[in-house]
Amino acid sequence: MNLLGKIKLLFVFCWLLIPLILFSQTEIDDLKRQLDFASGKEKIEILDQLQEAYWDIYPEASIEYGQQALKLARKLNDKRLEASELVNIGQAYFVQEDYTKAIRNYAFGVDIAKKISDKFLMIEQYINISVSYLKLKNEARSIEYALIALDICDESDNTKGYIGAYKNLGEIYFQKKEIADAIGYYQLAVDAATKLDDQNSVAKLQKKIGVCFLASEEKNRAIDFFQQAADYFETTNDLNELVICYKALGLLFEKQDEIINSDKYDRKLLKIEKQLLEEEEIDRYLFYYEYYNILGYKDKALEHYQKYNQLLNSYFVEKSHQEMEIIQQIHEQEKQILEKDITETDSELEKIQSESQEKEQEIKALKTVQEEREEQIRLEKAKKEELRRNLRYEQEINNLKLLRKNQERNLFIISSVLFLIIMIVILNRLRFSVKVNAKLNKQNKFILKVSDELKNANSNLEKANKKLEQAKEKLEKIARTDPLTHLSNRRDILEKMNYEKDRFERNAKPFTIVISDIDNFKSINDNYGHYCGDYVLKTISKLFTTSLRKQDICARWGGEEFLLFLPETNLKGGLTISEKIRKEIANTKIKYKDVTLKISMTFGVCVYNKLVDINKCISKADKALYEGKHSGKNIVLPAKL
Ligand code: GH3
Ligand code: MG
Ligand code: MG
Repeated sequence: MNLLGKIKLLFVFCWLLIPLILFSQTEIDDLKRQLDFASGKEKIEILDQLQEAYWDIYPEASIEYGQQALKLARKLNDKRLEASELVNIGQAYFVQEDYTKAIRNYAFGVDIAKKISDKFLMIEQYINISVSYLKLKNEARSIEYALIALDICDESDNTKGYIGAYKNLGEIYFQKKEIADAIGYYQLAVDAATKLDDQNSVAKLQKKIGVCFLASEEKNRAIDFFQQAADYFETTNDLNELVICYKALGLLFEKQDEIINSDKYDRKLLKIEKQLLEEEEIDRYLFYYEYYNILGYKDKALEHYQKYNQLLNSYFVEKSHQEMEIIQQIHEQEKQILEKDITETDSELEKIQSESQEKEQEIKALKTVQEEREEQIRLEKAKKEELRRNLRYEQEINNLKLLRKNQERNLFIISSVLFLIIMIVILNRLRFSVKVNAKLNKQNKFILKVSDELKNANSNLEKANKKLEQAKEKLEKIARTDPLTHLSNRRDILEKMNYEKDRFERNAKPFTIVISDIDNFKSINDNYGHYCGDYVLKTISKLFTTSLRKQDICARWGGEEFLLFLPETNLKGGLTISEKIRKEIANTKIKYKDVTLKISMTFGVCVYNKLVDINKCISKADKALYEGKHSGKNIVLPAKL
């Protein structure tokens, strides 16, 4: 038998052992008699008792009494009673396994609970609805209602409600075979029950967690939980619960090959089972037989009577064993009395001895009968077990054979398909390899040709780039050079001065700007022509270039105006250099064709030693030049501060 089968057996066992509330026929008759004279709430109470009495033995009658009580509660306009009757009817339908009707009644109960704002009642009914949906195998709705119950628990801080809701969620997930989730919810229910110090609920939940671990094959954990539950049930002597725990523990230890423990729990189980059978089963089956007989369910009555008879027989065997022990005890007592009187009469002694021997023989005979019966039972049990085991082995062998056959067939199919695929691939490769090689050769030649062309194009491109670079440099130089004098033009000198200004800001080294202008240049043009003027400009430019230091720059500032830029030079230095050049120009004779010309120039000098605008410095030098022109020309003048 597989694990699931064992669990199923365990559950069947649970159901068989659920304790039933037994009412005698006379008690029911009494209640019925009282009903005729009662009225109002008292009548409802009696109807409730009758409903409860017929609870699981005659659910139809139970529902009928519930309906009567409900009508009465509505007549009395007692909402709380109405709700409780609806719940009772719902539970009767539940027992009858008519879960749809049960849900309808619970839902009516919820409506009333809402009206009278009884949150506890609401929680209870939502849990009932959830449990009913679980029975209908509608897990989604079952979860939905359990969660509603939890929400109300959160609002009202109802710990008892949590136990029910979480327990049912555990049940749902167990039914869904989602064992880990089931354990999680049962654990939450355990926490809630621990909070309420409800040890009984804790133990019952531990038992359920044990079943979960049993299902998920976590044997050690299952053992832990069943043992904890069993420990508690031993203190309350809850035989029905203990049966389940011991059964599971015996099974688990057997699986773990811990024979001593397994036997221990099997023995405990046997003891309790016996106790239960003796104390409850016989009476219960007799009661059922009588009850079904009264109600006219002959088949059920017969079934229960047979069970009753069977139990009674086994009980009788046990009883005979007990009687034998009592006889033995009496005999011992008598023997003692006789021994006391032994001295009185030998004949009496002989008689008593023979009597005692007879009784001993009787006891022996009884003992052997008893032993034979026990042996027979034991042998039958062993035989059944052997048969079951053989059947299981046979089934397993058959399964394995079938599996092997399937595997062999699958292997053959897979290898055939693989062989075919490989053959197709090889053929295709052979067919196309020749074609592909020819194509590849052609493509290679083409690639080589293209790469040669690409190399040539690259070297051409490099040459063109070089030329372009040179042209660019040339263009750059032209853009910065005056075409007539080949000096820096205005744009170039302005950039250089600005660069020097930045340097000054970093090093604080001053520089000097000189603006010079040829005196009376217009008259040269007028007298000797424009070409002569150009020649003079070129000559003066050369003179400037040769007279200045290496780091100095002379630029053509305007028509016949020149700007001298003297880096790292103060005012004194600037004046000295300008004076030197002025003298040189004044002393130079410029020959153009057959004319000899004498030229003079005026200079304005300004030093740049503060963080001011460079244009301001230029304009100051220009002003000095202007003053020089007015003071008679051919002079060097410093700029005014
Ligand atoms: P001043 O002593 O006050 O400077 O008198 P100036 O005659 O030198 O000054 P003015 O401004 O009256 O005349 C400058 C002349 O320079 C006018 C213009 O034709 C001439 N000029 C400007 N650029 C060139 C050039 O590139 N080539 C020639 N040949 N002449 C130029
Ligand atoms: Mg001039
Ligand atoms: Mg001028």
